[in-house]
Amino acid sequence: MVDFEAMEKQKKELIPLCACPQCPSWIECKEKGGFCFESIGKSKCIKEENGCICGGCPVTQKAGLHNRYYCTRGSEKQLSK
Ligand code: SF4
Ligand code: SF4
Repeated sequence: MVDFEAMEKQKKELIPLCACPQCPSWIECKEKGGFCFESIGKSKCIKEENGCICGGCPVTQKAGLHNRYYCTRGSEKQLSK
C-alpha cells in the first residue's frame, strides 16, 4: 500500500526526479510532471498515450507505485480505488 501522505510530504524532493519530460507521450506546456501525485493528477495537455516510462522513474521505486499513464488516467491514489 502506498503511503500517500508521505508521498505528498516528499513532493518537493520527488518532483525533480519525475521522468515525464523524457517520455514519448510528453507534451511541452509548462507542466512539471508528477501526475502520479494526488495533488497534481491528470495532465491538461497530454491526451494521447504514446508510451509511459513511469516504470523506470525513481519516484515509482521510492513510493512503491503500481500504475502507469498518470497523465491521462489520474493519480496513483485515484487509480488504486
Ligand atoms: S511515476 Fe511517472 S508521473 Fe510519477 S513522477 Fe515518475 S515519471 Fe512522473
Ligand atoms: S505519466 Fe507516464 S505516460 Fe504520462 S508523461 Fe509521465 S511517463 Fe509519460
